Amino acid sequence: MSTAEWLCTECGATNRKLVPPGEREVHDRCVTCRAKHVVTQGERPVRWEATAKR
Ligand SMILES: [Zn+2]
Repeated sequence: MSTAEWLCTECGATNRKLVPPGEREVHDRCVTCRAKHVVTQGERPVRWEATAKR
Protein backbone atom coordinates (compact mmCIF):
# COMPACT_ATOMS: atom_id res chain seq x y z
CA MET A 1 0.00 0.00 0.00
CA SER A 2 1.13 3.53 -0.68
CA THR A 3 -0.09 6.74 0.91
CA ALA A 4 -2.00 9.32 -1.09
CA GLU A 5 -1.87 12.77 0.44
CA TRP A 6 -4.51 15.27 -0.73
CA LEU A 7 -5.74 18.72 0.18
CA CYS A 8 -9.42 19.31 0.85
CA THR A 9 -10.83 21.87 -1.59
CA GLU A 10 -13.46 22.94 0.95
CA CYS A 11 -11.45 23.53 4.14
CA GLY A 12 -7.83 23.06 3.10
CA ALA A 13 -7.14 20.22 5.49
CA THR A 14 -4.51 17.67 4.55
CA ASN A 15 -5.85 14.13 4.28
CA ARG A 16 -4.10 10.83 3.81
CA LYS A 17 -5.42 7.60 2.43
CA LEU A 18 -3.82 4.22 1.90
CA VAL A 19 -4.03 3.16 -1.71
CA PRO A 20 -3.40 -0.30 -3.17
CA PRO A 21 -0.48 -0.56 -5.61
CA GLY A 22 -1.43 0.44 -9.14
CA GLU A 23 -4.55 2.33 -8.10
CA ARG A 24 -4.73 5.77 -9.69
CA GLU A 25 -8.07 7.04 -8.47
CA VAL A 26 -9.77 6.74 -5.09
CA HIS A 27 -12.80 8.25 -3.42
CA ASP A 28 -12.33 9.68 0.04
CA ARG A 29 -13.92 12.03 2.54
CA CYS A 30 -12.19 14.89 4.30
CA VAL A 31 -11.55 13.94 7.92
CA THR A 32 -12.31 17.50 9.00
CA CYS A 33 -15.41 18.61 7.06
CA ARG A 34 -16.53 15.27 5.57
CA ALA A 35 -16.63 16.63 2.02
CA LYS A 36 -16.50 13.89 -0.61
CA HIS A 37 -13.63 14.02 -3.07
CA VAL A 38 -12.32 12.09 -6.00
CA VAL A 39 -8.58 11.82 -5.60
CA THR A 40 -6.41 11.06 -8.60
CA GLN A 41 -2.72 10.46 -8.91
CA GLY A 42 -0.85 13.49 -10.19
CA GLU A 43 2.66 13.90 -11.45
CA ARG A 44 4.11 13.64 -7.98
CA PRO A 45 3.85 10.26 -6.23
CA VAL A 46 2.70 11.38 -2.79
CA ARG A 47 0.64 14.51 -3.32
CA TRP A 48 -2.51 13.57 -5.21
CA GLU A 49 -5.01 15.85 -6.91
CA ALA A 50 -8.39 16.18 -5.20
CA THR A 51 -11.63 17.23 -6.86
CA ALA A 52 -14.76 17.90 -4.85
CA LYS A 53 -17.56 15.48 -5.62
CA ARG A 54 -21.09 16.80 -5.06
ZN1 LIG B 1 -12.37 19.52 4.41
